[in-house]
Amino acid sequence: MTSQPPLRRDRLRRALHKPAADAILVTNFTNVTYLSGFTGDDSFLLVRNDGELLISDPRYTTQLGEECPGVELLIRKPGVQMLQAVVKTLKSAKIRRLAIEGDSMTVALREKIAAELPKLDIVTTSGLVERLRRTKDRYEIEAMRQAARYAEKSFAAIRAALQPEQTEREVANELEHQMRRFGARGAAFPSIVATGPRAALPHATATDRTIGSSGFVLIDWGANGGLYCSDLTRVLVTGKISPKLERIYRVVLKAQLKAIAAIRPGVVAADVDRVARDVIGDAGFGRYFGHGLGHGLGLEVHEAPRLAVNQKTVLKPGMVVTVEPGIYLPGWGGVRIEDDVLVTRTGHEVLTAVPKQFEEVLVR
Ligand code: ZN
Ligand code: ZN
Repeated sequence: MTSQPPLRRDRLRRALHKPAADAILVTNFTNVTYLSGFTGDDSFLLVRNDGELLISDPRYTTQLGEECPGVELLIRKPGVQMLQAVVKTLKSAKIRRLAIEGDSMTVALREKIAAELPKLDIVTTSGLVERLRRTKDRYEIEAMRQAARYAEKSFAAIRAALQPEQTEREVANELEHQMRRFGARGAAFPSIVATGPRAALPHATATDRTIGSSGFVLIDWGANGGLYCSDLTRVLVTGKISPKLERIYRVVLKAQLKAIAAIRPGVVAADVDRVARDVIGDAGFGRYFGHGLGHGLGLEVHEAPRLAVNQKTVLKPGMVVTVEPGIYLPGWGGVRIEDDVLVTRTGHEVLTAVPKQFEEVLVR
């Protein structure tokens, strides 16, 4: 990846002071990737105050050498279970107080380690690495820009070729194909292509309904550029313009633009959510906006921080969040507009550029 992982591990070491641990066993594979650059799975990373050890298996030896030069490796021999390797490592490193990731380590593994090492003090932590992942470094931001480009290009391609007789699923498959064709690893998540009433379901899956069966279609898609993700939503008007759709669209767009404008360092996440919620509430649709305004984005499509009611996270430069207000009327349909926004030192930068003014989403 880059030379950043060593700096990330140093940040993690500093975070180990609070649980007063000698080391942390990182068992969440995405966190292992973040801290080591290694993109495979089935591997744990032990980060000690004075070094680190990546415990993996022979399938990955070559890849490990390429992806994380400088990281000490323990390649398990055939027949050596992960548990045995972990226990041996903890013993030889003389770890007395071990932090574990409570959100990913299984209860079974924790109990086995405790049974093998009765004197080991195990302290359960939550979100230590995830908190570091909230603020992206410049390499990560570059990767996220790339993921945004893949999503934009694929959308432009399917939009130009959109036909009324295409089904939602065909369009979803075509989007994914186009992302890969432009060089993405693939889709960051299964694309939502939802016509008419189906757009009222915030997480609708694509069906056999045709694009022409309703006057509009909601498309929620994103690319996995290699490691990092993008996540967007647009509504395209494919039929006669209904005044109701236009009104709702303009309310959602206004809510989104106002919320984006509120993003800058020092602002509390819940307050950004509030800005959008007030616009939608003032227009009389408050009860039809049932989800949070947005979520962090990076190695995963949903990660910290969240923009939602009661979220007290203070925004900092380097955070990347989606801003995606929506109005969903059961039986009629829904409108959501979503972009990815980077918090900068002076304010914000919208990373995703796909036209969204009402006049720009009218298809033919
Ligand atoms: Zn989305
Ligand atoms: Zn999203």
